[in-house]
Amino acid sequence: MEQRRAEPDRNNSINPVSLYGEFTLAGNRKVRCAVSLTERDLIIQRLTLAPVGRSKVVLSLKDCVGCRAYREDDNADTAAYFAAYFYPLKRRWMSSGVSRQRAEQCFRLAALQDPRANLEEAEKWARAVRERAARQQTSLRRNGGLMSALSRPSRMMLLVNPQSGQGQALTLYNTHIQRMLNEAGVTHTLVITERQNHARELVKEADLSKWDALVIMAGDGLLFEVINGLLERPDWDEAVRTPLGILPGGSGNGLAASVHHYSGASLVSTEELLVSCGFLLCRGLVAHMDLVSVQLSSGRRLFSFLSVAWGFVADVDIESEKYRHAGAARFTVGTLVRLASLRVYKGKLAYLPAGEDEGSGNNAAPHCNGQASSAAPSRDSALQNTFHNSCHSNNSHKARRTEGTPRALGGPPDSLLPPLDQPLPSDWVVVTEEDFVLMLAMYQSHLAEDLLAAPQATSDDGLIHLLYVRAGISRTALLKLFLAMEKGTHLDTNCQHLVHAKVRALRLEPHSPKGIITVDGEVVDYGPMQAEVHRGLARLITG
Ligand code: ADP
Ligand code: MG
Repeated sequence: MEQRRAEPDRNNSINPVSLYGEFTLAGNRKVRCAVSLTERDLIIQRLTLAPVGRSKVVLSLKDCVGCRAYREDDNADTAAYFAAYFYPLKRRWMSSGVSRQRAEQCFRLAALQDPRANLEEAEKWARAVRERAARQQTSLRRNGGLMSALSRPSRMMLLVNPQSGQGQALTLYNTHIQRMLNEAGVTHTLVITERQNHARELVKEADLSKWDALVIMAGDGLLFEVINGLLERPDWDEAVRTPLGILPGGSGNGLAASVHHYSGASLVSTEELLVSCGFLLCRGLVAHMDLVSVQLSSGRRLFSFLSVAWGFVADVDIESEKYRHAGAARFTVGTLVRLASLRVYKGKLAYLPAGEDEGSGNNAAPHCNGQASSAAPSRDSALQNTFHNSCHSNNSHKARRTEGTPRALGGPPDSLLPPLDQPLPSDWVVVTEEDFVLMLAMYQSHLAEDLLAAPQATSDDGLIHLLYVRAGISRTALLKLFLAMEKGTHLDTNCQHLVHAKVRALRLEPHSPKGIITVDGEVVDYGPMQAEVHRGLARLITG
């Protein structure tokens, strides 16, 4: 027997109901619901007796990834169904944090005798939900200053590294991502990489007009391949504008953690991070992403989206490869091991500070706990420098450029960097110390899932957030810094050995005969290197 509750308020003037219907739940036909759709929400009110406080559910269309209508194969049944898929933020059990959790709402429509009429009604609902959800994304886009949204339905190439992290990426795809993409109406082709540089070669040759986005489900290493593959194409300037999506599948998921952080969410477990990134991918909002051009002494040029590291951090990253089975915890283990054999790295570091008005941060001057000899940057010399270097850039693409080629191959030219063997202009800051414990250049917020190394960084601030730690720091103080980095509070610890500066370019000349330099967590040639940020060069599906 049905027992009716009060009629739901159908004429709320702020958020008027545009569609109203009474259906049963697909999963339990005994439960009848009044379903109202407004511009912002899907409101479900149980008409059958329900536990107190559980009778009404309001789901924000901002959290909706898709909605579809269908009939069951059973021809005897005239009913049709519509299912809406939501990923609302919910308070986590026994914790103060929130994370996205799946909430499917599926209704059975059987009011009419004609199965086609029921399906038409279900389709009308599904369309209405999808349209309103899309409009909610548009308003988000306007408020967030994001530039565009993926067209719908979208087609994605999804690249998975089956060897990433603990070798779980493919399983995570099967358990979480495939269903989410189907719910969102995203058609995708799964590409499982077979070896290192497979993705790079594939992306270099791919017909990009077939894809609305390239999505990487792996660690940061696979995205590094994809970005460099795009920039090696003759049509790099168009190719690099292909929206890129990231799903955490590796042990180093710095960009995935950053994207999650930009959406305003707090620290979550690896699995919750995956659901969060999956949701953001389905929502499909696209922003600019800075890339950093890295010149190596071999003449090679690379493009980087995350970090350059030398000293302690680079050593930990590479030495901890052997703890890969520990997943994201590998960096914690590696940090403790390295602390026991803490050493000093000798070298020369210099950088071009970002001007006051550059980047989104208002304090672009170096935030200096230690001392760096700071020469006031002069506008004129910076301009001359730009002119000078556009004529003398020491880039690998130059060698391949032939007479009369209208467009540079292999990415935009660097305008701030003199050739690597030439002295730096006077507006650069040369760090006086030559003994370091680490140098870390970041252009996203997170170096790894639990390392918020550059809390102020955004994907398109046009800044390199340079951190370095001078020699002389105690093991305890260094450990404290890394513990603070989990919450991103290391810059507030007043550590006298830590220096932070917002820069546009940097040069490093390591003097220790042996060592490791990593770019986005990948080892590159050890030796002198320099880097320059190219603001908003790539596109990122983000929060
Ligand atoms: P993790 O975060 O665990 O390091 P990554 O996705 O970053 O995982 O991958 C680590 C390295 O593996 C990268 O250098 C990447 O280029 C390489 N790689 C990609 N696909 C494969 C594969 N199929 N087999 C082995 N290595 C691969
Ligand atoms: Mg940045």
